[in-house]
Amino acid sequence: MTQEKPRTLCWVSQGAASIISARIELRANPDAILVRCETGNEDEDNTRFEADCVRWLNATVTVLRSDEYENVVQVWEDRKFMSSPHGAPCTAEMKIAPRIAFQRPKDIHVFGYTADRGDVERYARLKANYPEIRTKAPLIDAGVTKAATIAMLQNAGIEPPRTYGMGFPNANCLKTGCVKATSPDYWSLFRLRFPDRFTSMAERSRRIGARLTRINDVRIFIDEIPADWPVTNPIAPACDFLCALAEMDMENAA
Ligand code: SF4
Repeated sequence: MTQEKPRTLCWVSQGAASIISARIELRANPDAILVRCETGNEDEDNTRFEADCVRWLNATVTVLRSDEYENVVQVWEDRKFMSSPHGAPCTAEMKIAPRIAFQRPKDIHVFGYTADRGDVERYARLKANYPEIRTKAPLIDAGVTKAATIAMLQNAGIEPPRTYGMGFPNANCLKTGCVKATSPDYWSLFRLRFPDRFTSMAERSRRIGARLTRINDVRIFIDEIPADWPVTNPIAPACDFLCALAEMDMENAA
């Protein structure tokens, strides 16, 4: 009986770091498979970006979808719940469940963690918490930072997702904004760049009762952020494998 060869899965989003990480891996291992979880909530320019990258890498992206939901908004509306300090249901439904259905125990997982300190620490936590998972982080190995991944794309003639140029730290879920982001600067920037999307999200989060942001340690609705609030430090948390695994543990423990 022949042994099944382990698959190498490059987990990509529609952002710069994971694409450059996949490029490095593909050069060494052309059989690597690019995989992405569909949220149904990405800015339209992300689609253009992914199409450019697919041509550049000469590789396809396997898109994993929820069996139940088309997008994160459906999850929030169905659950009447958007986010808590312990996580968000959109991660569980749109990222964890499709991933579990797809992955196999022997898979090797390639991640786009960069050589920036926060990412290095995050990757170290992933390896410490889940030693049974076989992982690689080519950007850390090569000392490539997030800023460098954007420069590498531009050098290759690929325009990064437009939302980086708008000041967002990552390109995730910008049709609505990310419900894990509690930074008022993030929501203030989202209001500035996408006023209509902000209005819809403010209405939705009030209806569901989700106080998504926090000022002076008090949770508030996003439309309570003062109009002149700065946009200088728009922190948005990663919505990555580590996050998904941590939430999976909590669900199993519940
Ligand atoms: S990026 Fe934010 S909104 Fe999108 S799936 Fe992750 S937690 Fe949900």
